[in-house]
Amino acid sequence: MLYRFFRALVELYGVVALAAFIALFFVAFAFTVLYPIVPIVLIMVAPFAAVTAVGGSRLLRMVERFFARKKLAMARCPQCEGGLEERQLLDPESDDHAEATCLVCERCQRAFIVSGRCFPLKVQTASSSPDQFAD
Ligand SMILES: [Zn+2]
Repeated sequence: MLYRFFRALVELYGVVALAAFIALFFVAFAFTVLYPIVPIVLIMVAPFAAVTAVGGSRLLRMVERFFARKKLAMARCPQCEGGLEERQLLDPESDDHAEATCLVCERCQRAFIVSGRCFPLKVQTASSSPDQFAD
């Protein structure tokens, strides 16, 4: 339950942060003629806001993976409470195409690494197609 809540927050966070920065741009643009101190203050605050936005993203991801690890320790899928099966899969975010031990949910087709990171299993089937490794 908490995992799915934080997972949804992580997925929405980037769009919401981008929308907030675009809204601040329009606020600064509107105040350029009316009250020029507002855009100046917003320009000075912007780097700190960007650092805060990135920090918030990392914090949310850390909390999401914390709850995922708790469910994975119980051998349950964090997303759908289904059973997990251990498989050796290619890590899609790894540069050296190393295989990692993943816990795959049969019900929702998600693969979880021990750290709690999740990726859809469709990525695996697309990247490990048989014609890619054919001699
Ligand atoms: Zn599942």
